[in-house]
Amino acid sequence: MLELIIKNGTVDGQSSLVDIACKDGKIVEISPAIKADAVTIIDAEGQLVTPPFVDSHFHMDATLSMGMPRLNQSGTLLEGIKIWGELKPDLTPEGIKERAIKLITWAIAKGNLAIRSHVDTTDPSLMAVDVLLEVREEMKEFIDIQLVAFPQDGVLRCKDGLALMRRALDKGVDVVGGIPHFERTMDEGHKSIEILCEMAVERGLMVDMHCDESDDPHSRHIETLTYHTQRLGLQGRIAGSHLTSMHSMDNYYVSKLLPLMAEAQMNCVCNPLVNMNLQGRHDTYPKRRGLMRVPELMAQGINVSLGHDDVMDPWYPMGTHDMLEVAHMGAHALHMTGVAQQEILFDAVTTHGAKTLNIEGYGLDIGCNADMVVLQAMSKTEAMRVHPTRLYVIRRGKIISQTPKVVANVTLGDDVHNVDFM
Ligand SMILES: [Zn+2]
Repeated sequence: MLELIIKNGTVDGQSSLVDIACKDGKIVEISPAIKADAVTIIDAEGQLVTPPFVDSHFHMDATLSMGMPRLNQSGTLLEGIKIWGELKPDLTPEGIKERAIKLITWAIAKGNLAIRSHVDTTDPSLMAVDVLLEVREEMKEFIDIQLVAFPQDGVLRCKDGLALMRRALDKGVDVVGGIPHFERTMDEGHKSIEILCEMAVERGLMVDMHCDESDDPHSRHIETLTYHTQRLGLQGRIAGSHLTSMHSMDNYYVSKLLPLMAEAQMNCVCNPLVNMNLQGRHDTYPKRRGLMRVPELMAQGINVSLGHDDVMDPWYPMGTHDMLEVAHMGAHALHMTGVAQQEILFDAVTTHGAKTLNIEGYGLDIGCNADMVVLQAMSKTEAMRVHPTRLYVIRRGKIISQTPKVVANVTLGDDVHNVDFM
């Protein structure tokens, strides 16, 4: 018998409503009217069924720590890093784990079933690494967590940074991270990229670097990252996160840079909520937005996905881990409110994210993992506009989160209107 049938779903690329049948954790049939028995049957009533949301950039070791030990008064990246440094000696494994699991329940309720989380490797105890490896294992039935070894204080600038990075990777962290713009000099930044990319080759791992997260137009580490990607044959396996300096770069230089990035099949991860919060903080007026050039990158055929980056931590005091909120901010901050552009931004928090993370079995096709979300919205653009209720979140053919449909009753004299914003 089938595990699950979702009836009457709207699915991207299908012209009429379809049923989706799942067995042994996989999608086994997608067709207009499946006549079979199943343990669970959901009627989607014409609403959008989508593969799960993917957060391609997050910090699970810091999440929900806002105010510990103090609030970020300047709102800058650098004060955030300073506060995190003050908090590190007081972190406990129990505290990190409790906050991470709370965040994961939020993520699942919002339909995010894959998160790439950076984890700081510059704490000599590697406590957060151990805790998040444990969380990754304990939660794997419910969510894919991919960990990036992230040398927050600089892999060369921090004492024993390289040795700690190696130890974290030995323990089983999935991806090599970096932060070239935070090393002591531009040259050290370039050197860190070379060393870390070679480390990834030796170990057969992907790379995802915090790269050029500043408003300095001369921060051009992405060029070096692109060069080593090409040199080492790492095409498609490297991600440049943030790339905010690109906003302020010279236009001629960018016209040379983007085709090189396309050639290297660079994945780019933009973090609209947090970039809008942290960038431009040193400006008076006008204040720069400080996001990478997403429409131009996409026009070159470069894969761009979006990340939440932070939820209630030293860098961002808001958020519920709703990836549609991220895409919504992106639509505004990037001037991507056109209908087709909104649809692409929806993809940037679903399929493009899966591509950045190299997730196997992702998608709404026969043979893919039966991981899906039924939204209280009929289309991607409606989802972008209303940030709808995630009616059902399905993992490997089982419902793991359910939220009742939200409808308001507005009483105008004798008339009662049911309002669902559609
Ligand atoms: Zn980050």
